[in-house]
Amino acid sequence: MKFISTRGSSPDVWVSEAIINGLAPDGGLYIPQVLPHLDMKHAPSYKDYPQLAHFVLSPFFEGDVLEDELLDICKEAFNFPIPLHFHNKNEAVLELFHGPTAAFKDFGARFLAITMERLLKKSDKKLTILVATSGDTGGAVAAAFHKRENICVKVLFPKGRVSARQEKQLTCYKDNITSFAVDGSFDDCQKVVKEAFMDKELSSKEGLTSANSINLGRLLPQMVYAFSSSLEMKDKCHEDATVIIPSGNVGNSCASLYAKEMGAPIKSIILSVNSNTTIVDYINSGFYEGRASISTLANAMDVGDPSNMERIFYLYPTHESFMRNLSAVSVSDDEIIESISDVYKNHHYIVCPHTATGEKVRKDLSLIEPTIVYATAHAAKFETIVEPIINQIVEIPSSLSALLEKEQHYTSIKPDYHLLF
Ligand SMILES: *Cc1c(COP(=O)(O)O)cnc(C)c1O
Repeated sequence: MKFISTRGSSPDVWVSEAIINGLAPDGGLYIPQVLPHLDMKHAPSYKDYPQLAHFVLSPFFEGDVLEDELLDICKEAFNFPIPLHFHNKNEAVLELFHGPTAAFKDFGARFLAITMERLLKKSDKKLTILVATSGDTGGAVAAAFHKRENICVKVLFPKGRVSARQEKQLTCYKDNITSFAVDGSFDDCQKVVKEAFMDKELSSKEGLTSANSINLGRLLPQMVYAFSSSLEMKDKCHEDATVIIPSGNVGNSCASLYAKEMGAPIKSIILSVNSNTTIVDYINSGFYEGRASISTLANAMDVGDPSNMERIFYLYPTHESFMRNLSAVSVSDDEIIESISDVYKNHHYIVCPHTATGEKVRKDLSLIEPTIVYATAHAAKFETIVEPIINQIVEIPSSLSALLEKEQHYTSIKPDYHLLF
C-alpha cells in the first residue's frame, strides 16, 4: 500500500517513509491511497488486541520494510489493558487511559516510537524529536521514546503554566530525553520549535523531526480500538454501536471514521467538542473557518483549527457527505462540571473533563442503540478540577504514581532555539 498527500503534489511513499517524513513535502498530510475493506468474518477475537491490531493494520504495511515486524510492533506497543467499562447493558466507556501516561496519546506515541526505532536501526541514521507541549502530548512522547536507540527527544513546555502533575511527567526522565522550561507561553514554545525546523543547516545536522498528531505513525494505531470496542459491543448487544469521541485535533475521530469505512460495526460517529466550536459551526453553516483556540476545562481539546480536518475533508469533500458521516456537539465548561457530577452520582464512575463532554452528549441524545464514549484520559491527571466537583480524592493509577515519584530534571531557557543544542 502506498500513501499520498492530501494536497496531491508529493511522490507516493510506503508507510515507513510517511512516518519518518511526518508532513508530506507539499505541506499536506499523508493518507492511504485506498481504504481497504476488511472481511470481519476473518477478524481475530477482540480479546486478543495485538492480533486484532495486526489484522487491521496489515493492509497498510503491505510491501513496506516493516511488514514482517508488524505483529511484534503491535505486541510491544499495546502491552496494557484496554477495557470496555459498562455503566449498564447499553452504555459503555472505552478506557483508553491504562498506558504509561494515563491518556490515549500513549497508543500513538508508543507505536510511533517503536516503528521509528526499528527503522533507524535499518538505516544507521539518528533523529532528534522536538516537541512543544501544553501538557499531555509531551509526557506521552517522552515516555514512549525514553531509552530508544538513535533517537533523542527535546521537550519544551511553558514554565509555570502546566499543572504540577503534568510538570513532573515532563521532567522525570534523563538519558535521551531533555526537558526545557521555556520562559513564555505555549505559543512561544511552538514558535521556538518552528524556528529550529526553519534553520535548514541545523535541521539536517541534528536530524530534526516532529512527533505531532498529524504523523501517520500516531494515526494508524488509533483505528484499532474503534474495531475492538465496536466488535465487543456487537458481541454483547448484537447491534452496531454509536461511538462518541471527545475531540480536539480530530486525530482520534479521523482514525475511527477510517475504521467505520473499513468495516468496523459502528452505526454512527459523534464528536464531542468543548467551547471551541469550529466543527459544529461548519456543520451548521457549510462554511469552514479555523480560528484561535479558547481555554476550557478540557484543555487537551482546546483547538480552534484542528490539524487533522484536512484528512476528514479529503474523505468527505462535500458538506452533504460530511454531514451524512459524522456529527458534532459542543459542551460548555458549566456542562462539563455538571457531567462529571452526574456520571459520579448515577454510575459511581469518575471521568476526566474531556470524557465528561462525551458523557454529556450521550445523556442529551438518549439513543436507543448501544453507545461507547471514549475515555481519553484518567481523571487523576486533572484532579484539581475533578476532586472538588465529586468531593472525593481520585486514586492515582500505579503507572502514573511511579512517574510522579521520580526526581525532576529540566533546564530553564529563554525562548531561543539556539539554547536547545
Ligand atoms: C489529545 C486529547 C484529546 C483530543 O484528541 P484529538 O485526537 O486531538 O482529537 C482529547 N482528550 C485528551 C485527554 C487528550 O489528551
